[in-house]
Amino acid sequence: MPEPTPKADILVIDDTPENLNLLSTLLIEHGYKVRSVTKGSTGIRGAQVMPPDLILLDVNMPQMSGYEVCQHLKADDRTRDIPIIFISALEAVSDKVKAFQAGGVDYITKPFQIEEVLARIETHLTLRRLQNQLQSQNEQLQQEIRERLRVEDERKHAEEKFATIFQQSPNPIAIVTVPEGQLIEVNPSFLSISGYTRDQVIGSSITKLHLGHDSATFLRRLQTTETFHNLEFELLTHSGNVKSILLSFDRIELNGTTCALLIANDITERKRLENEFISLVSHELRTPLTSMMGALDLLSSGQLGSLTEQGQQVLSIGIKNAERLIRLINDILDLERIRSGKITMNRRSCNLADLMTQATEEMQAMADRSEIQLSTEPMSILLNADPDRIVQTLTNLLSNAIKFSSAQTTVQMRACSSDHASSVCISVCDQGRGIPSHQIQTIFERFQQVDASDARQKGGTGLGLAICRNIIEQHGGRIWVESTENQGSTFYIELPLNI
Ligand code: ADP
Repeated sequence: MPEPTPKADILVIDDTPENLNLLSTLLIEHGYKVRSVTKGSTGIRGAQVMPPDLILLDVNMPQMSGYEVCQHLKADDRTRDIPIIFISALEAVSDKVKAFQAGGVDYITKPFQIEEVLARIETHLTLRRLQNQLQSQNEQLQQEIRERLRVEDERKHAEEKFATIFQQSPNPIAIVTVPEGQLIEVNPSFLSISGYTRDQVIGSSITKLHLGHDSATFLRRLQTTETFHNLEFELLTHSGNVKSILLSFDRIELNGTTCALLIANDITERKRLENEFISLVSHELRTPLTSMMGALDLLSSGQLGSLTEQGQQVLSIGIKNAERLIRLINDILDLERIRSGKITMNRRSCNLADLMTQATEEMQAMADRSEIQLSTEPMSILLNADPDRIVQTLTNLLSNAIKFSSAQTTVQMRACSSDHASSVCISVCDQGRGIPSHQIQTIFERFQQVDASDARQKGGTGLGLAICRNIIEQHGGRIWVESTENQGSTFYIELPLNI
């Protein structure tokens, strides 16, 4: 049978061997481990090497009194906390006071009752254990407090760092709730570019502040798209100026609220220079191109002599490509003029049915060549619009629908008015190759094509839809597309009727 673990390790220091033996035997019998020594100095050494749980110390010893032994033990870090109980035949109060002054925890007078000794030992061991427990809990608590302070400190530093970045970022930043579009935080750059004060912005919504020409469409985009990079956006400032910005946004969760983080880049100046450059280059290109076209036309008219069949073929390649270049330049100039407001829409009262018919007639030959059935249901309703520009938009949509459809399919153009006749919606629907969902938004941007080869193979410029969007927006309307790949696309134009 294994020996039971002793209750505690007790050191007895007493110069009288009989006392020592008696105490040791009694304590061992009651389950304690006992070390006994007759000299104070030996007791001190023993306690330093292996500190006991408790010391029973005789007061009267020849070389070193119990009080002196106690003082030594209390002066040493290794033994300071060991509880010491004095044992003495003296019963004077002054002796007891001396014992407590020396650092003892208790005092037993001889002859003693063993029950009393055991009870006192047990009490002081329990006290000591509780004290130890308290001390280690205290240390643990201190450690936890230090750790919390450190984490709190780090959090504060990180917060300060990010607050500084947010406040001093040269890029305008805003945080908007989704789906409401309510602005909950903006940085000084945002206030500076928009011209609003913080009080005007915080708590208000994108649509209420009218931050863009079409804030409602932008909000819809925020609600339906999780992330978007480098979206060109025209910001309407408080004073009514238009700033070109490049906007990126991403969804974030803030205290359980879904938000969009918007980071902008002011490209107004860059855009102005770019537009200037484009229109300058386009004008410069147009002049030599026009004379090249003239020369090619002259050649093909036969006035300079007839060409061989091969010569005719080479000439027609030249003419085709020159025409393509002229188309591109015209589109660029057209787009820039509409965008910059140099061309105003020439609005007058016109019947939508006439415009739909005119656009269909213009595209009929192309549809026939591609063996595509063009089906239009003209709707008679009065519009206050620029008829040429609306026809230009409709022919562009029809031409795209034909271009991106296979033979023997149908392209349909229809129109319907809204419930309260406040707007009319025209749709151009094809059964063509469709548009990948991630490009549904971008194709309305300049030079954006689904496939890089579209320009070459289909003869497009990537500017048609950008022009259409500008024309429609200038009429206070909107344009969008719904599409399924390999099944077809439907482009929609919504025009208000009350303007
Ligand atoms: P493009 O001159 O290239 O036709 P657009 O701006 O009119 O320029 O169109 C941009 C791109 O959008 C096209 O190149 C094509 O990739 C895509 N697209 C436009 N309309 C359709 C359609 N009906 N079906 C499939 N893709 C289309």
